[in-house]
Formats: sequence, structure tokens, C-alpha cells
Amino acid sequence: MMLASACLLGVNCAWHGGHHANTRVLALLEAGGIVPVCPEQLGGLPTPRPPQEIAGGVGEDVLDGRCRVLTSRGEDVTGPFLRGAEETLEIARLVGATAFIAKSRSPSCGSGLVHDGSFSGTLIPGDGVTASLLRRHGMDIVPEEDL
Ligand code: SF4
Repeated sequence: MMLASACLLGVNCAWHGGHHANTRVLALLEAGGIVPVCPEQLGGLPTPRPPQEIAGGVGEDVLDGRCRVLTSRGEDVTGPFLRGAEETLEIARLVGATAFIAKSRSPSCGSGLVHDGSFSGTLIPGDGVTASLLRRHGMDIVPEEDL
């Protein structure tokens, strides 16, 4: 069993109200064994919502309280990000998921690269908040490009 970022499966949960459907992830869904999750919605954030980035660090730093997640308007959304990560982990436990197919560059789901908090499109090495928490609990994080 695997979790997957719901926006990769065509769910309109992305910050702009749309999705990022990925044909390779959809093909896996047809084969079975995929559970869609959107950590930001699970954390209580609305859709659509302002863009958000990790400010001054990566997901690991947010988990350890070293930095925050801010919207482009400067609102602190660290709490919903942490709640969404915990809820996603709980779903993984409930369904016995061992891997997470991750939307790239997301401050929640991203794996390998995330935006640097400047809202300028600049990427830095690291994972999003949910990807970091799932990795800490032994799950494999599979970037969508690696499928
Ligand atoms: Fe997609 Fe993850 Fe962002 Fe939800 S939190 S819209 S699943 S990338």
C-alpha cells in the first residue's frame, strides 16, 4: 500500500484550486494500492489558499521548531502544516502504507527540493514537512519524477 499526493491524482486540492495530475501516478491508481492524501487540507487549510513556503529552512527544521511556514502574505501556517503531517502519518498507519508518492517542490509533500522561502522560484535541497515526518517514521518517499 502507498500514499500519494492527492493533487497528482487529479484532486483539486492545490493552493490555486487546481491539480497536478500525473499520468504515471494515475496508472498506478488503476492498478490499486494507492491512497490519496492532501496534508495541507488535512491540516485545515482552505482551498484555494495563498502560496506557502518554508522560511529559512526545510521540512526537518519545521519539525524541530527551527523555522516556520509562511504564506506569501506573511501569515504563519506552521500549525496547520504540522497537523497535516501528523494526520497523514496516521492515515499511513491505518492503511499500512510503506511509501509516499510525492508532489515535487511542495512545502508539504516535496522530496529532494523545496522553495527557499523567498517566493522567487529559488529551490534548495530538502524535503517538505510531511515528507520529512513520513521519512522519519521509516516510509520511502518517491518523488513523482522517479516513477
Ligand atoms: Fe498536493 Fe501535497 Fe500540496 Fe496537497 S499538500 S496540494 S497533496 S502537494
